[in-house]
Amino acid sequence: MDVTPILEELNDAQRQAVTAPAEPALIIAGAGSGKTRVLVHRAAWLIDVEGVSPHSLLAVTFTNKAAAEMRHRIEELLKVPVQHLWIGTFHGLAHRMLRRHWREAKLPQGFQIIDSDDQLRLIKRLLKNLEVDDSRWVPKEIQWFINAQKDEGLRPQHLDDDNDPNRRQMISLYQSYEEICQRGGLVDFAELLLRAHELLRDNDELLAHYRRRFQHLLVDEFQDTNAIQYAWLRLLAGGDGVPFVVGDDDQSIYRWRGARVEHIHQFQKDFPGTRVVKLEQNYRSTATILNAANAVIANNASRLGKNLWTEGAEGEPIKVYSAYNERDEADFVIGRLRDWIDQGNLRADSAILYRSNAQSRVLEEGLINARIPYRVYGGLRFFERMEIKDALAYLRLISNRDDDSSFERIVNKPTRGIGARTLEMMRAYARANACSMWRAGGAIASDDLNGRAANAVNAFMSLIERMARETQGLELHDKVDHVIHLSGLAEFFKKEKGEKGETRVENLAELVSAAKSFEPDPAEDMPPLDEFLAHAALEAGEGQADAWEDCVQLMTMHSAKGLEFPLVFICGMEDGLFPHQRSIADPHGLEEERRLCYVGITRAKQTLYITHAEQRRLHGMDNFSHPSRFIAEIPAEHVEEVRPRVQVSRPLRSAAAPRRRQSATASGNELGIRLGQHVRHKKFGDGVILNCEGQGAHARVEVNFESAGTKWLVLSYANLELM
Ligand code: ATP
Ligand code: MG
Repeated sequence: MDVTPILEELNDAQRQAVTAPAEPALIIAGAGSGKTRVLVHRAAWLIDVEGVSPHSLLAVTFTNKAAAEMRHRIEELLKVPVQHLWIGTFHGLAHRMLRRHWREAKLPQGFQIIDSDDQLRLIKRLLKNLEVDDSRWVPKEIQWFINAQKDEGLRPQHLDDDNDPNRRQMISLYQSYEEICQRGGLVDFAELLLRAHELLRDNDELLAHYRRRFQHLLVDEFQDTNAIQYAWLRLLAGGDGVPFVVGDDDQSIYRWRGARVEHIHQFQKDFPGTRVVKLEQNYRSTATILNAANAVIANNASRLGKNLWTEGAEGEPIKVYSAYNERDEADFVIGRLRDWIDQGNLRADSAILYRSNAQSRVLEEGLINARIPYRVYGGLRFFERMEIKDALAYLRLISNRDDDSSFERIVNKPTRGIGARTLEMMRAYARANACSMWRAGGAIASDDLNGRAANAVNAFMSLIERMARETQGLELHDKVDHVIHLSGLAEFFKKEKGEKGETRVENLAELVSAAKSFEPDPAEDMPPLDEFLAHAALEAGEGQADAWEDCVQLMTMHSAKGLEFPLVFICGMEDGLFPHQRSIADPHGLEEERRLCYVGITRAKQTLYITHAEQRRLHGMDNFSHPSRFIAEIPAEHVEEVRPRVQVSRPLRSAAAPRRRQSATASGNELGIRLGQHVRHKKFGDGVILNCEGQGAHARVEVNFESAGTKWLVLSYANLELM
């Protein structure tokens, strides 16, 4: 049999792993050593050579993007599409099981997934209902507590209050939260996993069925599985299943979300006789980049330790740029991107990575001004935008009237005269009768409310009923379109002033196209609307319409895990931002940040830029900080400091010749700038210099623009024309 394509371009260790007999296997290896590649080839090998049915494979990866990529690569190797192959994230697969077995999982058929935003809102409402003081019981902390318990597989009844009144209250809130969710058929992200675990644990027949079905369980990024994910996996593999897991302890970056790298040891105990394979050759990065990454991670004490080498070229040094502020940083990045694109490279081969989502805004502005297409992964993603969530809430309510979270979101949006008092009454009724808001609305509208309020509630409820009726049998995108208009949302946002309203209306239109291009997965076997809603909740941000356009990739280092790019920028390498302030004092936290840095560096194939700013405005605050300690951990021989562009723009320099020097003024004057000078800026128009400070490339001026107001500009980038 011709098996060459599957075994091509694999080294000995990789080939050994791909062709290993059907026994538990643990592939533990550093970044870029081909772990994901081995997993893909293993799947193809099992199907094509060992004759295993795709039906018997379960493959788990970390993001939906990675799952799609994996399916694509397996199909490429096999040259046939593989339907019936279960491939997805832990959350996605858990969701699929719950949909299929909603009865056994004790869920209503139309249960809905809520994201962490919805969850927080629900908790806030709960506190209000229970008249609990939310300054003492902080909603975010409660949310954190609940999710942490679920990640460990713990229900309220499993928890002991240890005679601690605080803890007792937390447990009781967890209990109440659970009741609300159960009543409304709402499932949060942690619940998906917990419930899927309980589903198998408590249903012998189901468990036996799935154990028979999934002979091979392939898991990527194993170092980041949390307790409940691991328990689920162990349960499934507990019969004759063969788990085949790959991971890298140095890339464990989700400890804060319950991931436990200790599972690497636990695995070998739980599956005696595990075959352990190490891969040591890196195929991704230049020697310079790899050595830099190795040197940084060597500062961590708790490691399994491994030796990663490459046959690749030495490559160019890592370039470090010290920016004046975040705008200067963005200008620098965009300048280099420009060069890269002008040299004929694909934009999609470049990535800008950062520690925190909020950093993207300034970079985005710069990219927009430079007209460079880009795409942000994470952050305020499409499905998380207000107007989209509003529209989805209508759709969800159509699908499940008991969804309180959606009900509350849209009952008075657009405004329809349902006031706070009416809602308060509904909540009280719902609480007293342990029913949903929808039922409460129906009940009190006929008994307790005055005429106007009752009319408003009735009108809302019949609107929802009408939508449900009129959209029945429509195609998914027609359904969405219908709801957007009938709900009045489109009209409502149209009235919102300015660009914002326009964008919102465009986004709503975009939702219709998203529904149009949505392809239901035949394996899911559920109504398209429910599947679409689940998709929206699970894949937020990963289904943007411009996915295939050639564009620069922006994302946090967390979301860059597993990916690779020829050109990488890591921005905001400052102590306090990266490593993050809250982790600096905690040795475990600092090590996790360092692993994240290792992940960041090892995304780069050829060229890596690292930037930091002396001054940064983030979340509306100005911070002055030192370069990240991680930069100093990179051996000097791999680093080249990029000199700031000292020369300033031409109009300024030519005008700078005839001038008088004043001894007591800032250096802006050396460039011909004086206070009161009239200048012109390409974008901001005409203005007057109010102030200047700083030296050389870092000289800044404050200009009062006639129409744009006062602004501080970095002189060497502002291209000011002297008037
Ligand atoms: P990470 O830890 O970042 O997830 P990984 O270990 O999963 O990395 P892969 O993404 O599978 O690594 O591989 C890194 C790169 O090296 C990919 O571009 C892959 O195609 C390439 N590669 C891996 N093994 C080989 C090989 N034997 N020959 C040629 N290229 C290889
Ligand atoms: Mg990988």
